[in-house]
Amino acid sequence: MHKQHKKERFEEFRKICREHGLNVTPQRIAVYEALSGSKNHPSAEEIFRRLVSNFPELSIDTVYRTLNTFAHIGLIRIVGGYGEVRRYDPDTQPHHHFRCLKCSRIVDFESPEFSRLKVPDVLQRKCRITGVKVVFEGLCEECLSR
Ligand SMILES: [Zn+2]
Ligand SMILES: [Zn+2]
Repeated sequence: MHKQHKKERFEEFRKICREHGLNVTPQRIAVYEALSGSKNHPSAEEIFRRLVSNFPELSIDTVYRTLNTFAHIGLIRIVGGYGEVRRYDPDTQPHHHFRCLKCSRIVDFESPEFSRLKVPDVLQRKCRITGVKVVFEGLCEECLSR
């Protein structure tokens, strides 16, 4: 996660939880830290696997619920999937994604230009636009060199 130190991020985490009446439990901290320490846009399953040895009582359902609650209060983002397993993003700043069709890696990139994309008239008239995400798809560097 860019432009933010671990300590500041954690304070922000506590603050947003408090604002939404969410208790800051060791499990919630662990889920948040596991996600924000990852550049991979992990799934709930991956986060669960990373934590279960330290939290034997943790269930995959709890991880799902925790992540969805975090997304709901704006702590994290859900990466738009298309019928795939849901992936999560600790970075709530505007940014875009490249998605590898082979290994499912999701790579962040920033583009102020894309963030200012003009909304097509047909959408402008009918919908309220709250954000824009550009997703490029293809093969990542590693898959190409294999
Ligand atoms: Zn790949
Ligand atoms: Zn991202």
